[in-house]
Amino acid sequence: MIRPEDIFDVAVVGGGPAGMMAAGRAAELGAKVILLEKNDQLGKKLLLTGKGRCNITNAEFNLKKLVESYGQNGKFLFHTLSIFGPKEIIDFFNKLNLETKIERGQRVFPASDGSIDVLRALVKYLNQNKVVINYDTKVISIKHKDKRIEKLILKDREVFAKNYIFCTGGKSYASTGSTGDGFKWAKDLGHHIEELAPALVPIVIEEDWVRELQGLSLKNVEINAFQNNKKKINKFGECLFTHFGISGPIVLDISKTIGSLLKNGKVELLLDLKPVLDYAKLDQRLQRDFIKYQKKSFKNSLNDLLPQKLIPIIINLSHINPDKKTTNITKEERLNLVKLLKGLKMTVRELLGFGNAIVTSGGVSLKEIDHQTMKSKIIDNLFFAGEVIDIDGPTGGFNLQNCWSTGYLVGENAAKNK
Ligand SMILES: Cc1cc2nc3c(=O)[nH]c(=O)nc-3n(C[C@H](O)[C@H](O)[C@H](O)COP(=O)(O)OP(=O)(O)OC[C@H]3O[C@@H](n4cnc5c(N)ncnc54)[C@H](O)[C@@H]3O)c2cc1C
Repeated sequence: MIRPEDIFDVAVVGGGPAGMMAAGRAAELGAKVILLEKNDQLGKKLLLTGKGRCNITNAEFNLKKLVESYGQNGKFLFHTLSIFGPKEIIDFFNKLNLETKIERGQRVFPASDGSIDVLRALVKYLNQNKVVINYDTKVISIKHKDKRIEKLILKDREVFAKNYIFCTGGKSYASTGSTGDGFKWAKDLGHHIEELAPALVPIVIEEDWVRELQGLSLKNVEINAFQNNKKKINKFGECLFTHFGISGPIVLDISKTIGSLLKNGKVELLLDLKPVLDYAKLDQRLQRDFIKYQKKSFKNSLNDLLPQKLIPIIINLSHINPDKKTTNITKEERLNLVKLLKGLKMTVRELLGFGNAIVTSGGVSLKEIDHQTMKSKIIDNLFFAGEVIDIDGPTGGFNLQNCWSTGYLVGENAAKNK
């Protein structure tokens, strides 16, 4: 027997950023909404974002540039970003008494530096609009007939709704609850799932010296990725050395491209430690330092140029005798050193997997979702929002912005869909 308390206008599966926004917006428009979350709390992944500070969005207010940040699939977001973009989400949180601030790279954070405050604001929004929240509630399967979902099957009951929204996220950091359930259901319901791959993920490097630099963060460097001697991608910014290889914003941002390149063969990275100096200027700089330290040996002459931790590595890779007086370093040795500083070679072994990826690339094919409403083109009462769809962006708040925008649009349209 169907119980009246199990019947809703809108049922949202997944209480991450996209699901919370979708549920709140649908309820704000008057719909009777249930939000089903399998964890004992909402937004488990949201709490981890921005190293616990939550990079809410990116203050890129130019719509064209914003759309371009998402790469080829960004076009799909044009409509949703034009309706509910970075400005709107900042206003949204400010209205919920969450102050925000803008940092380097136009990254927007809560003024409190706490992702918990972002979650609290969203829970307030849900409560204000009387969303029914069910915790510890895993949706096990979906029952459908013809082109409509009939009900959601839970462990001990069933939930019925006029419209259903899948906000189950990607496949990365599975311990947060994002185990890819939505991909399986969408496929079973007839949707195509674009190949899933870890994106914004650290890179494992072959060379052992890299591990000796563990913990070293280099700002204002440039990574250039090569395959078959052809430059494929480059990025300027911050790179972090780890116990397995490299991470940090520029590494994460090139990782998706590196993953695709690896399918075709070996990928080499050249790290330019001094990208603002061209070869000639860096050579002049070295000559000045060698004069300044003319009474010293090579190993004691690089303190002005490089961080301490990096010096023994560079000395070793340069093949210049560390005890050689700087005045005795030959021009050839010096020019080779310039080359080394502008192209420290690292061979990619692999990407770390889904367990360490910030996002999942791939997902429900955008061809099968109406970009004006986020409604499935295959199932009449099904909508998608957030990372479950085939959208991923670079670091800097773009992935959460995708969740806010698609969540808002989907909530609005699911509430109206009769
Ligand atoms: C470490 C880390 C840091 C990040 N930092 C940032 C950042 O600073 N800025 C940024 O823009 N992005 C960041 N991201 C990316 C961002 O967190 C995600 O893109 C975003 O959380 C996706 O939101 P979502 O709502 O689509 O899915 P998720 O956040 O993955 O939420 C999906 C929810 O669905 C629930 N669920 C799944 N299956 C079921 C089921 N069968 N039944 C019931 N519930 C289910 C899950 O438990 C989960 O709570 C970061 C990601 C990570 C891992």
